[in-house]
Amino acid sequence: MLLTNFHSIKNQLPNHVQLVAVSKTHPVERIKSIYDAGQRVFGENKVQELMEKQPQLPSDIQWHLIGHLQTNKVKYIAGFIDTIQSVDSEKLLEEINKQAEKHNRKIKVLLQVKIATEDTKYGLEISETKELFLKFIQGCFPNIAIVGLMGMATFTNDQQQVKNEFMFLKRLYDQLSLQYPLQTLSMGMSDDFPLAIECGANSVRIGSAIFGDRDYSK
Ligand SMILES: *Cc1c(COP(=O)(O)O)cnc(C)c1O
Repeated sequence: MLLTNFHSIKNQLPNHVQLVAVSKTHPVERIKSIYDAGQRVFGENKVQELMEKQPQLPSDIQWHLIGHLQTNKVKYIAGFIDTIQSVDSEKLLEEINKQAEKHNRKIKVLLQVKIATEDTKYGLEISETKELFLKFIQGCFPNIAIVGLMGMATFTNDQQQVKNEFMFLKRLYDQLSLQYPLQTLSMGMSDDFPLAIECGANSVRIGSAIFGDRDYSK
């Protein structure tokens, strides 16, 4: 089932769209199966879980952190993380920059923008996003590369609303791209990735459609 799901998702993605396979709650054996089928980019949302899995899996996996990150935990992943998709404050950006410098590397990040109407979702306001981006362009974070934007749409059956939120983020992405080249617009999950791609996403974060339902009781 796992590999069938994986290949089915791959077949639905245009060539220019990157797949981030969201492996949270799933054991390393299942991640390894997908790895062996050719997948290299995986997403986790918890630092603790990522730290346990990373040493048990091949070192050429590009790990993306996709969940809310507390500043005091950046140090645990700074040595190996490929991309932090969930940057939602200046304080966090500063800490990532500091820890990346310690490891003598540059860490790729996406600014997570709040596009949903629910107040449970983390993310920067539009004005904050623009301010942070400007500071980045001015050279404030030398050990960070802001490579794009990430957003999560409202959890709703209203396709028009979801579409509006995705289109909104795409417009912001295009606007910022005029000031400095960006490469990644991360939006779309198992339930809404075709719509996200239609709206301009070039990276999607897909978990349950590949790995099946998550069991949080374990
Ligand atoms: C869990 C998660 C996903 C994947 O969700 P699915 O619906 O299982 O595809 C995508 N993005 C973020 C930020 C997540 O936490």
